[in-house]
Amino acid sequence: LAGGPGFGGQVRISTVDSINKLGEYFSKFPGIGPRQSKRFVYYLLRQRKESVDELITLLKKLKEDTKICASCSRYFPSSEIGLCSICADRNRSNETLMVVEKDIDVDNIERSGVFTGKYFVLGGIVSPLDKNPGRKIRIEELKDLIKKKAKNNTLREIIMALSANPDGEETTDYVVQAISPLLSENKTKISRLGRGLSTGSELEYSDTETIKNAFARRT
Ligand SMILES: [Zn+2]
Repeated sequence: LAGGPGFGGQVRISTVDSINKLGEYFSKFPGIGPRQSKRFVYYLLRQRKESVDELITLLKKLKEDTKICASCSRYFPSSEIGLCSICADRNRSNETLMVVEKDIDVDNIERSGVFTGKYFVLGGIVSPLDKNPGRKIRIEELKDLIKKKAKNNTLREIIMALSANPDGEETTDYVVQAISPLLSENKTKISRLGRGLSTGSELEYSDTETIKNAFARRT
């Protein structure tokens, strides 16, 4: 048999199975299953080499070129001042602060054009079973920001804009409990956007109309 013993020794082929390896990588992406991840791989194989090279360069630079905003904690293209474009925008109000779970929620709300205040990105969500919820979200950073704003006496409203599901509710309750002692009740109110979203809906998947309605009906 070809390649078998006694036929010029064993044929050794070192194989880096790029298709499967890359497929495995993509399957770890949020919301991507094994079948979809393979589709990505085959899509890349069909692209011109230059376009794949461009993607490689972008991936290489992503971490280097991106920083976390010193104020709202969202990712932004690195700049001298250390603040993202929203936090650095003087035309945006400092009277309202919207607390969201993730960066993509900021993008979504910005697209709706309904909000002109500032944001804070918690970076996660807590669930009722978490023993140490404070470690999963940026609660200390949020408290620091609120203390700073309280000192300047500018903050009128904090809008909790987390998803309308049990974990979102749990996180909202946890955050409200943690920040309430920092606020004087008659100066800063805390409202919840989730009550304007239909139950179970995630902010990430809400369209502009839904966000506008939820914003108008926040309580
Ligand atoms: Zn920012």
